[in-house]
Amino acid sequence: MSARVVLPAEKRPKPPVRAVSGHVVIDQVTVAFGRGGSRHVAVENNSLEVAPGEFVALLGPSGCGKSTLLNCVAGYIRPTSGRVTVDGVPVTRPGPDRGMVFQQYSLFPWKTIHDNVAFGPLRAGKGRAEAESIARTFLEMVGLSRFAERYPGELSGGMQQRVGIARALANYPSVLLMDEPFGALDAQTRLMMQESLLRIWGEFGTTVLFVTHDVDEAVFLADRVVIMSAGPGRIVADMPVPLARPRSPEIATEGEFIRLKRRCLDKIRAESLKAFEERDR
Ligand code: ADP
Ligand code: MG
Repeated sequence: MSARVVLPAEKRPKPPVRAVSGHVVIDQVTVAFGRGGSRHVAVENNSLEVAPGEFVALLGPSGCGKSTLLNCVAGYIRPTSGRVTVDGVPVTRPGPDRGMVFQQYSLFPWKTIHDNVAFGPLRAGKGRAEAESIARTFLEMVGLSRFAERYPGELSGGMQQRVGIARALANYPSVLLMDEPFGALDAQTRLMMQESLLRIWGEFGTTVLFVTHDVDEAVFLADRVVIMSAGPGRIVADMPVPLARPRSPEIATEGEFIRLKRRCLDKIRAESLKAFEERDR
């Protein structure tokens, strides 16, 4: 399964499509849960701008507020203060311009793979023939055409997650939001998924905001790694990843990759130490 697939010429990744939409601005966003004595500030005063078509990884330890911040962009959570805009429009609720892929495969178990992917376009008012054609296109893109008539429960975790990506893309979102999407997969499948996500992103050209706590994953995938620290969640570093694309897993053994990874780890460690010292004070 880990053997590299050599794609025929017409299926090889083209240079990324130049995106014109999907400009995300997170402007001084704070989210507090609860009130009074049980008030808990999950993320505090975070600002981040993501350019159209850019791939940004949001990296930080568990509980630092990555999902909270991502959910503000998705429109599932309203910031307590600050705001998020996508292409200049304030985010107030979820919308088809922002596709979400969660860690837990959130497919409809009673629908076939094909119908899971066609669901979004149908709900958006597309006719059956068009929705089916969109579903076929995206299932092909994630390499699952042969499984169109199967049900989610018949597929492996990695395959279900590829359906999740196809389903999110079927709405032609300008922003793809991914919350530790490969966190539940074994290491080998995870590597394969990362590579195939990069290929899909190269073809589709959408903005990606990808949450992970895995340094290797962040550096391998992203144009920029944005590091968050806990208590309350704050963005503490924003590191460009000037590695050439297309990338294949072998780059993980190259000097530049290791240097970048080292810088991330140093930053994370410095921030954790700071947090410990503050707690002990
Ligand atoms: P991460 O995704 O980085 O693991 P989260 O965004 O899930 O972190 O959580 C950040 C903090 O906010 C944690 O302390 C978590 O317990 C708290 N939190 C998240 N969602 C809620 C909620 N709905 N109600 C109360 N606290 C929450
Ligand atoms: Mg989370």
